[in-house]
Amino acid sequence: MSNSSARQILLDVFGYADFRGEQQAIVEHVVGGGDALVLMPTGGGKSLCYQLPALLRQGVGIVVSPLIALMQDQVEALNQLGVQAEFLNSSLDAGAAREISQRLLRGELKLLYVAPERLLMDGFLGLLERLQESHGLALFAIDEAHCVSQWGHDFRPEYRGLTVLHQRFPEVPRIALTATADAPTRGEIVERLALEDAQQFVASFDRPNIRYRVALKANARQQLQAFLEAEHANDAGIVYCLSRKKVEETAAWLQEQGWDALPYHAGLDAATRNRNQRRFLREEGVIMVATVAFGMGIDKPNVRFVAHLDLPKSMEGYYQETGRAGRDGLPANAWMTYGLGDVVSMRQMLDSGDAPEERKRVERQKLDALLGFCESTACRHQTILRYFGETHPGDCGQCDNCLTPVDTWNATEAARMALSCVYRSGQRFGVGHLVDVLLGKSTPQMEKFQHQQLSTFGIGKELTQAQWSSVYRQLVAAGLLQVQMEAYGGLSLTEEARPVLRGESEVWLRRDAEAVKRTSSKAERGARVREAFAGANEDPLWQALKAKRMELAREQGVPPYVIFHDSTLLEILNQRPGSLTEMGRISGIGQAKLARYGDEFLKVVEDAANGVKG
Ligand code: ADP
Ligand code: ZN
Repeated sequence: MSNSSARQILLDVFGYADFRGEQQAIVEHVVGGGDALVLMPTGGGKSLCYQLPALLRQGVGIVVSPLIALMQDQVEALNQLGVQAEFLNSSLDAGAAREISQRLLRGELKLLYVAPERLLMDGFLGLLERLQESHGLALFAIDEAHCVSQWGHDFRPEYRGLTVLHQRFPEVPRIALTATADAPTRGEIVERLALEDAQQFVASFDRPNIRYRVALKANARQQLQAFLEAEHANDAGIVYCLSRKKVEETAAWLQEQGWDALPYHAGLDAATRNRNQRRFLREEGVIMVATVAFGMGIDKPNVRFVAHLDLPKSMEGYYQETGRAGRDGLPANAWMTYGLGDVVSMRQMLDSGDAPEERKRVERQKLDALLGFCESTACRHQTILRYFGETHPGDCGQCDNCLTPVDTWNATEAARMALSCVYRSGQRFGVGHLVDVLLGKSTPQMEKFQHQQLSTFGIGKELTQAQWSSVYRQLVAAGLLQVQMEAYGGLSLTEEARPVLRGESEVWLRRDAEAVKRTSSKAERGARVREAFAGANEDPLWQALKAKRMELAREQGVPPYVIFHDSTLLEILNQRPGSLTEMGRISGIGQAKLARYGDEFLKVVEDAANGVKG
């Protein structure tokens, strides 16, 4: 298939003028019959990478997806675009499922979403074989491919069975997609899904539209309230808490304050969970207060903020959870408060769990990495990406550290002591022991390795144990030290440490966490109100466009963003199209949506114009 026809479909069906990032290369590769592994952050535009090839190739595209809510959303969105798509999962009764099989065999569907357990049933594999002979199989897409990884956060044993696709249908191209970045998970996906010959497409994991902010906990509820009032008075967002109890208390408290907040955690009965999730997806401006049980597969594009009232467990977790904000590419906030008390309770939770010691050690290190990120004075985007092995120039001009100077101290001397202690002890010890050396403690370890003889033994008595731990975490976060996971968490120096050791560059670290009490002033908050929506919220046309969208969504029983994304509405607001042709040029309005909604939204724009004149 020529690439001009891919472009034509992109415009006609999806309403987009251009591909994003690597989409075009991926689409061409899969249309040409190649296997692909796609690593792209949330909001990067993964769905298009298999939807478009499925439309271009002969036959039906089969999409394996782990979550029912996700499938329903995707199918609704495709139907709105005029694409024949259905899903098969346990939410359908036998009759409905049979009906879909028949439509499949009549060649009426272009895309079918299935749960992995359904796919693996004999009957279903047989159906696929018949399909291949009659109408053809366009491709297999394996969404959320990290579910195959045991170390990942969403392990699904059925995913391991998916190699059967390759064995039984070797000619059908497979495309596996995930937003989980780290190298071990990637390796496991390749191995477990037999994707050794697949081409890998790795996008940047930067989320430039997310503004990261980390604040010290003073009065968390008041801080949250101030943040919501200043920046998210009408927005949908997620507030993450560590425990079920805290979820319920926080949701109840927000409700008392007049917010439309709902709780979500694994301890609620299924009906309540579904009802709350549905409201979050289908209505505007609902705040979900949740444990990490909530979120996977929630692809609501206009989640405007993710707030953490407690520390996540790791950088991966933080990245995944905050990544649920701003999928539509519009400005969004990731906001977190943390206190050292949290760290203590998280450590206790880890220690008291019954995981094997090795696993606990890995988890403690992951928590430390996250804490190092919190304490870091460097650009947040840069620090996050460094963790995932990617470089970023820093100075994003967006995150808290780039926007407001952090209270720091000249830690050059301390950093040199800390680094040289690593060096002299042979670059293989963890933070606990290194701090003991600096403080000159006598421990069994000290005896065993004869570390009393090191020149750094006891040279650091001016700082406390907690301060030294923080120094080490910040040096790791800044990339001067690296943690060797495979060597029991021993620290070793990186190239960046050299100039510091040679006395050629200075190190400034965040002042000891508890000692600093930063509160953001009203003026500061005011200045941070986000540009894109600030004007829009005042504009009557914006309200009218949203009201129309809500009306259409209610009529059809679908979430509003399935009709139009916020970005599309914003473009209508700014362009004020005066004809169907102009309306058709708005990004996100393809032929089907233009035909269905063009007139109604034109009328809204027209009425608003008349209202202003009259
Ligand atoms: P992911 O699955 O990677 O999280 P999605 O497939 O949900 O991302 O896409 C994220 C958003 O980007 C959606 O709103 C989608 O419609 C939009 N999008 C995807 N591709 C393009 C494109 N080429 N041009 C404009 N918007 C796009
Ligand atoms: Zn920054």
